[in-house]
Amino acid sequence: MAASVPTVSEPLSNSKFFNWIKAALAVFYTKEEIEPVVIAEVKDFQQDCLHVISSANFLPAGSTCSNCCTENLIVCPTNRICNVNRGKCYYHINVATQYRPSGCPNKICHNLKSEIQKAHRYHGPSYKNTDATKWCSNAWEIAKCYLPPDGYKDVSNAGETDFNGIISVIINHKGFEAKIKDDLSKKNNIFDKGRDVGKAVRHSPNLEVEDTDLTHYFAILNNILTDPGFVAINKSPNNAIQKLAKLQSDDLIIGKDVVRKVLDDVGKTIQEQIRNEMDEYKQKTEERKLELINIINLKVKDIEEKGNVSLAQLNGAVKSSIDAFDAKVKESIQEIDRQTRKGKETLESVTNDGVQNVNKEKENAIKEIQNAAEKSRGNDAAVKSSIDAFEAKVTESIQEIDSQTRKGKETIESVTNDGVQNLNKEKENAIKEIQKAAEKSRGNDANAKISEDTYQKKKEGKKNIYECTTFVYNITMALLHV
Ligand SMILES: [Zn+2]
Ligand SMILES: [Zn+2]
Repeated sequence: MAASVPTVSEPLSNSKFFNWIKAALAVFYTKEEIEPVVIAEVKDFQQDCLHVISSANFLPAGSTCSNCCTENLIVCPTNRICNVNRGKCYYHINVATQYRPSGCPNKICHNLKSEIQKAHRYHGPSYKNTDATKWCSNAWEIAKCYLPPDGYKDVSNAGETDFNGIISVIINHKGFEAKIKDDLSKKNNIFDKGRDVGKAVRHSPNLEVEDTDLTHYFAILNNILTDPGFVAINKSPNNAIQKLAKLQSDDLIIGKDVVRKVLDDVGKTIQEQIRNEMDEYKQKTEERKLELINIINLKVKDIEEKGNVSLAQLNGAVKSSIDAFDAKVKESIQEIDRQTRKGKETLESVTNDGVQNVNKEKENAIKEIQNAAEKSRGNDAAVKSSIDAFEAKVTESIQEIDSQTRKGKETIESVTNDGVQNLNKEKENAIKEIQKAAEKSRGNDANAKISEDTYQKKKEGKKNIYECTTFVYNITMALLHV
């Protein structure tokens, strides 16, 4: 009987949601611009290393190896990679994946590994991500040593690597230090800040960005794109600087596929979050975000023009998405009301049935007493045994009523406890949301009113259940004392 738990609408702001989409697009265009530069640099690094290794070991030019897997190159045990605490290593798992103390049979891979290590700013390449058998054939497997340690195992090229990953290569691979003008050895360099922008957009708690934050984000991304060192190694510019400027002044025409890709990317992150989130309230919040992403995605798809959308059209899609989203939330509040009413009706009918049954039993018992009294008139022994038999029956029947009533009471109590627990949880959620909404809508009375109404509805729902429970409890107690 517990109602499903839809969450309350936090009033969404058209303009802040639109800002968020603009910020996500800005990150997309920035990534599009720096990605080829990173690919080229990593390829150069791969070729330089192979050249140096070949000369030092007197190997023919162009020598490669695809024989050694990453495990063959990692000594056992190695911190953070293999755990030998229990005497058994789950990384160097079989004969083929043992460490090779004598190194690569082709004299390449272990040397490549030490070059990769030397070029890592913090000397901690992410070997868990990478497949060393491909180091000579796919430079991106080398790039993956410079990504964050987890979450990139299945990525095989730059296109599949997110903005955070691409920027990590620039920060962690020392080859960029001499080329980028900003000091990459310092915390809070422009790429560090850029990475923070990407994270803030991707993990935005409510898909909203304030005007001042948006301006700040544009400035940071612009600093990356205009760094003189970066401009110098950017061999085939893709106009990201102009795109960002037009995006900021609402003049950009955007491919629908770009908008959908940006939304889908964030959607995937949110789905991941929903899978891993244990807290029910946070999970609901993420589900709501995903719902909104899905709605706007459909609205963008519905825009008639093929291929492109203007920012004005995109803004229109944002507005109608928020309207559609609000309507959905209203619907789920009505659903709670309906469920509460239904629950109350069910409890009432169950209780009425119980009372009717007990009354019937009482009538039967009285009839039996009258019958027995009539039959035994004038016969003392018969009277006594009749009365004994009758008393035994009455006792039995009272015990049965007691036991049935107790059972009923336990069932009702457990059902009611569940219901009350659910409602308490709902109340907590509602209060949290109201606090959040109130904080957000400081000075916005309309918003506060919506939240207050919703809270009142939930409170009424709880009152209904409480009244119903009290009613059932009183009846049950009365029955116990029949
Ligand atoms: Zn090991
Ligand atoms: Zn090898």
